[in-house]
Amino acid sequence: MREYLKFYIDGHWVDPVEPHAAEVINPATEEVTGRISLGSPADVEEAVAAACKAFSSWSQTSKAERLDLLKSIQTEYAKRQADLGEAITEEMGAPASLANGFHVGLGAGHLQTAIEVLERFEFEEVRGATVIRHEPIGVCGLITPWNWPMNQTCVKVFPALATGCTMILKPPQLAALSAHILAEILDAAGVPAGVFNMVQGSGSVIGTVLSKHQDVDMISFTGSEPVGVQIQKDAAETVKRVGLELGGKSAWIVLDDEKLAEHVTGATAGMMGNSGQTCSAGSRLLVPNSRMAEVIEAATAAANGVTVGDPNGNFAMGPVVSKGQYNIIQDYIQKGLDEGAKLIAGGLGRPEGLDKGWYVKPTVFVGTNDMVIAREEIFGPVLVIIGYDDADQAVGIANESNFGLGGYISGTDLDLVRSVARRMRTGAIWINGGFDFHAPFGGYKRSGNGREWGDYGFREYLEVKSMMGFPV
Ligand code: NAD
Repeated sequence: MREYLKFYIDGHWVDPVEPHAAEVINPATEEVTGRISLGSPADVEEAVAAACKAFSSWSQTSKAERLDLLKSIQTEYAKRQADLGEAITEEMGAPASLANGFHVGLGAGHLQTAIEVLERFEFEEVRGATVIRHEPIGVCGLITPWNWPMNQTCVKVFPALATGCTMILKPPQLAALSAHILAEILDAAGVPAGVFNMVQGSGSVIGTVLSKHQDVDMISFTGSEPVGVQIQKDAAETVKRVGLELGGKSAWIVLDDEKLAEHVTGATAGMMGNSGQTCSAGSRLLVPNSRMAEVIEAATAAANGVTVGDPNGNFAMGPVVSKGQYNIIQDYIQKGLDEGAKLIAGGLGRPEGLDKGWYVKPTVFVGTNDMVIAREEIFGPVLVIIGYDDADQAVGIANESNFGLGGYISGTDLDLVRSVARRMRTGAIWINGGFDFHAPFGGYKRSGNGREWGDYGFREYLEVKSMMGFPV
């Protein structure tokens, strides 16, 4: 049982101003696995004051000083990888192999990327007699979700540190344990007092105070669309910058070629990874109508082949994060049935033999793009297959969405693959499994307005200053 009741403010572990503990539930066992504190506005005030005070010195540090710090963090992060993996499995149910592998690895990847970008980043450019400076924006409120906790936290914290900003992290209540360990890592690495602060608690309290705070210069938010909208409203009065990384309903287009079955198998299994709780998951699988029978056979076999069970056992998929998330997913499966989608794998209820823990059956429907299950983000292991007649129609269906976060294309005709990729209105497209830590990540339309990862992630935290008439 973990007791993580203190907040990290001004370089110290401190008690909350008003004690208010909450339980952390392990979604695999439904049992209490830890206790955290829920902060109050008074805790936020202390954290913001510390971050404001630290900004005057941290913003003036050299690249070399910040690189030294990031490298110390790298050493400490490497020491705590197993602890982070264990906490992620406990708090959100990710299978241990996934938690220790990709989950923790994404955090390490963003740290290494921040180091590489900082090494070559030019904070000043000269254009004739004008010098354009890129300066840290100031005090940042970082508000993160639970679904890939290290990924989403590290992709904010390390660029913010690297660019000379100070920050207050507000982690999600459902993934508070790994966030606490990350704060221990930063403390051990010697982050100067006040540069990084962490206050746990509910979004409507801590997040709202941060969003409205006149001394917070920027909010970087990753989470759901409705909360992103609320944050923009709360931040409007103080005209702060708001970076939004929101939800998605991404299309995975499988082109008509000899590898179709293989691609459908990969896309279906991919959808079930992390129990489908991935913002950029390819949750709409677009396939040629002329080959629907083969598609159904491959997708059914792939979904039925995904083993579900104890995240500490040898299973591909663990539970979803909480009872609330389980119920939302069940409602969507019911909606799919009600609106006439054809169920070809999974369905309502827990998988056979699992009567405790928030386990969902890997579920696949064949439906149409106007159905609710094809339009709204389900955030669970539920795939909707939609047929198309030709590549132009596939692009049209992919783009007919309020979201525009990710996109996937599988196919062997690379000219066609690239022409389809160019026409998809989304912030990121993975072609035949490509991956790059330096590629910008963010959404079109209601998937947000920010760009994280690599050097684009640095720009989120920088102001631009023109100094004209600069002596040359
Ligand atoms: P959420 O919006 O419910 O919560 C995200 C964070 O916002 C949490 O820390 C929460 O406490 C906080 N919050 C809640 N209400 C708030 C308020 N009024 N003001 C300020 N903060 C508030 O999202 P979630 O359930 O944690 O995460 C799932 C969502 O995140 C999905 O929609 C998913 O697509 C999205 N997501 C997007 C990306 C991306 O990069 N685009 C990545 C991961 C997850």
